[in-house]
Amino acid sequence: MKDPFVLGTILAHPDDETFGVGGTLIKYADEGVRVHSLCLTQGDQGWMGDPERPIVTRERLGAMRAAELAESGHRMGLASTTCLTYPDGALAGVSGDEVVRDIVRWLRRVRPDVVITWGPDGGYGHPDHVAAGERALKAIELAGIQRHEPALGAHWHVRRCYRFVAAADFVDGIREINKQFADYMETLAVKPERWTRDRLGAAIDIREVVERKIDAMKAHATQEPDYREWIASREKIPWLFSEEVFIREFPDAGGPPLETDLFGALRGMSPGSLAKRA
Ligand SMILES: [Zn+2]
Repeated sequence: MKDPFVLGTILAHPDDETFGVGGTLIKYADEGVRVHSLCLTQGDQGWMGDPERPIVTRERLGAMRAAELAESGHRMGLASTTCLTYPDGALAGVSGDEVVRDIVRWLRRVRPDVVITWGPDGGYGHPDHVAAGERALKAIELAGIQRHEPALGAHWHVRRCYRFVAAADFVDGIREINKQFADYMETLAVKPERWTRDRLGAAIDIREVVERKIDAMKAHATQEPDYREWIASREKIPWLFSEEVFIREFPDAGGPPLETDLFGALRGMSPGSLAKRA
C-alpha cells in the first residue's frame, strides 16, 4: 500500500491552524492525509477572559492555549500538534537561526509532502505571522540540504509549499461587518495585500466541513470573543466561510492556474516516483 500523503502547517499562534486553515486540514485529514501542525508560540499574550473574572492567569495562559490547540487538532483529525514557546507578539525579534533550526528539526521528523505557512503579509499584517512565514521558507530550504546540520535529522525535500492569505473580497466583507477589526488592521505596519482571484494559487472549498471547523474553533476557550465574532460574521455573510485560499510559493510561484486541491499535482505521480520516507 502506498504511504499516505503528509501535510504540515507552520504557523504562529495556537488558533492560526483552526481559525485560518481549519477547513482545509479537516478535509485532508478525512481523506487519510497525515496532518501535522507546528505552532511557533503559545499565544501567551492573548486574552485571559473577562478582566473581572479571568479564566486563567497570564503565567498559565500559554500552557492552556497549547492544550486548546491539542484538543482542536484532535477534533480536526490531525496526527500531531507541536507548540513551541517563542514569545508571542515578539517572534520577529527572536534570532532567526534559532527558530529556523527548530523548524528544520520538525520538518525532518514529520517529512511533509506539502507545507502550508503564512503569506507574505501575514494574512492581515500581523508581525508574528509575517515572521513565521519567512522562517518557514528558510527552514524548508535548509531541511532539503543533505549536509546542513545532519544532527537535526535526515534531509527532506518538501515538494509543494502554499501560503495562506486573506482573499481581497473576504477582507472587504470583514471590513463591512467588523469595524473594530478593520481599525486594528490599520494600526499594523504591514498592510494586507489585495489578493484578488487572479493572483491566487489555490482555493479549497470548505463548505462541507465548515460546521466541524466551527466545532474545532470552540475548543479554543480563550478565543471565545473571536470565535463568537466569526460565527456572527458568518450569519451576516455566509459566503465568507466557503473557502480558504492560498498563493503558491513553489513550484510555479504565484497565482494562476488556480488549483482546487493542494495535492492535485502529486496524485498523478506513480508511487515509484515518490520519495521514500524514512
Ligand atoms: Zn495568529
